[in-house]
Amino acid sequence: MLELRPNCENCDKDLPPDSADACICTYECTFCRQCVESVLENVCPNCGGNFCPRPIRPVTAHREGVSLKHHPAGTNRKHTPYSEAEIRAFSATTKHLTPQER
Ligand SMILES: [Zn+2]
Ligand SMILES: [Zn+2]
Repeated sequence: MLELRPNCENCDKDLPPDSADACICTYECTFCRQCVESVLENVCPNCGGNFCPRPIRPVTAHREGVSLKHHPAGTNRKHTPYSEAEIRAFSATTKHLTPQER
């Protein structure tokens, strides 16, 4: 199950569970859409993978015991250990490859 992490790992923008701006890689590294597009260039600085929009967990329990209320969003804020220059340098080595080629 996704943690639904609360912030962008790069710019620290809040990314609440209903945010349409939250993007994740397969490891659930979480960044805002603006950082993914303008800084990361669709390369995760932690794993080299690509990003997709994070799905939104329903607030309504359409099935018993399954909703945001039953499985609330995470509260543990993460911050990338990499500087923007390091992120851009890493991205430059990988962004020309399709996700399937990485
Ligand atoms: Zn950001
Ligand atoms: Zn990643």
